[in-house]
Amino acid sequence: MRAVVTTQRRRMELADVPEPGEPGVGEVIVRPRAVGICGSDFHFLLGELGDGSEFPRIQGHEVGATVEALGPGCRDGLAVGDAVALWPLSECGRCYPCRIGRPNVCDNFSLIGIHVDGGLQELLALPDSQVFATSEPNPALASMAEPVSIAVRAVHRAAIESSEHLVVFGAGPIGQAVCLLARERGASVLLIDPVASRLELGSQTGAEVLAWSEPEEVVAAAREWSGGEGSEVVVDATGAPAAIRAAVDVAVSAGRVVLVGISAHEVSLPAFGFVDKELDVLGASCCQAAEFGEAVAFVEQHGAALERLITHRFPLEDTAQAIEHAIENPAETMKVVIGDV
Ligand SMILES: [Zn+2]
Ligand SMILES: [Zn+2]
Repeated sequence: MRAVVTTQRRRMELADVPEPGEPGVGEVIVRPRAVGICGSDFHFLLGELGDGSEFPRIQGHEVGATVEALGPGCRDGLAVGDAVALWPLSECGRCYPCRIGRPNVCDNFSLIGIHVDGGLQELLALPDSQVFATSEPNPALASMAEPVSIAVRAVHRAAIESSEHLVVFGAGPIGQAVCLLARERGASVLLIDPVASRLELGSQTGAEVLAWSEPEEVVAAAREWSGGEGSEVVVDATGAPAAIRAAVDVAVSAGRVVLVGISAHEVSLPAFGFVDKELDVLGASCCQAAEFGEAVAFVEQHGAALERLITHRFPLEDTAQAIEHAIENPAETMKVVIGDV
């Protein structure tokens, strides 16, 4: 069967790989129909997430698929032919975060498309715990459950309530999904990004928007927007040091700052800022199983808003060019989906 294999740093090749055998106990074989590409795929491909020992690997962790075969003992609620979205994570069940009910940050977790092979192939076998049935018939939208699930996690960590102000730095897919989820909770949302087309998308989904300019100006404008005292909640979906510094400055005293953007940058901040304002600074990673279920339900209800985030579609054989295009044209590329859709 066909697969796109990342053979080494910066190299993806269309290859012929063996099909999975019969599904084992509790195992599901799915046929990926649509695979979303995201920033972590760029980082992986560019060799920024490992030491080279991770190659060869079949990438793809945002997957809309159909069930091809079920092994013995799979849980109820899954049937051959079902449309499904894949939760990329499986946990060890033994480490400290697993023992306290936070397996999404398991020290030994395995993510499809990163630690084990993912969706950029014609068939994929994985445990039934990672396979979520969905009534969403469009696989490209089903694949959006994964980025939405990261936003669900960020919104849960932020504990956003209806009366609150939320300032979001970064209008990529995760930032946009955070805005949608917070709007659904009734919060007022301000979305900040340097790219006008991304802000335009954000305003279509109910956020107020602000163009990133000089940090001091952005901080002043965002604090004024939130009523002058600062915003109760701030989410950084960029990983950029200037945005994270601004996020801390925009937050009201006793507020929450949630970091969900991935980067390898270091950020320097005056320590007294945290003490003085008694900020809760929280990280948000992959989601938990129940949160993935929430993301699937959100996709089923908000397909139109999420469809606007899909800017490019390519067939499997053009995956390498698709990723190259996305890396080289970040301003015009929101979500790239691979598949025959
Ligand atoms: Zn992703
Ligand atoms: Zn664990």
